[in-house]
Amino acid sequence: MDFCGFVADSMRWAKIYYHNPDFVYHLNGANNTLYLTFDDGPTPRVTEWILRTLDRYNARASFFMIGNNMSRYPLLVKAIAQEGHSVGNHTYNHEKGFRTGLQTYLQSVRKAQELLPKESNLFRPPYGRIRLDQARAIQQMGLKIVLWSVISCDYEARISPQRCYNLVRRRIGQGKIIVFHDSLKAEKNMRYVLERVLDEYSDEYRFEAIRL
Ligand SMILES: [Zn+2]
Repeated sequence: MDFCGFVADSMRWAKIYYHNPDFVYHLNGANNTLYLTFDDGPTPRVTEWILRTLDRYNARASFFMIGNNMSRYPLLVKAIAQEGHSVGNHTYNHEKGFRTGLQTYLQSVRKAQELLPKESNLFRPPYGRIRLDQARAIQQMGLKIVLWSVISCDYEARISPQRCYNLVRRRIGQGKIIVFHDSLKAEKNMRYVLERVLDEYSDEYRFEAIRL
């Protein structure tokens, strides 16, 4: 199995570091629910396309946004929340947890949190990696740490859109959290996979925003 096939299975991925029972990898919500999530936005045009596409299928999703992008595109942050999606924190500058000191990391999280609606309590660490001291401090701030159960590898330019879709399709199931990226880098693969997932699974599943 190559790297992307390997990380696609997040439970194995998480176990390389540690599997923390306080982190959310999937949800046992209502039956036949899937949770689409988008990291690294908001990005003009790309995020707008996602909002239009989700709306066509009456689907709700969750957006884990970078503070620096939120400060540049506040109207997009507003539009996402107004359309019934949930919004979460993805740090201010997409810091790597393993390479960032505790105080610097927390400052970045706080700075991003100020740009989110008050009720927002979701956090996803960039790259899905975070040290335990950072995780504990973030949880003490009242944030829930949300990872994923299915990764599309949409950001991997070497992987074809069809292959990304296959990575997702093989792992779809009740309560799974699927990660996409609303970034320019991921746009081509993400657009293809998102439309196919919505098209193929809208009869069988409901697409809901994560609310914890
Ligand atoms: Zn990210």
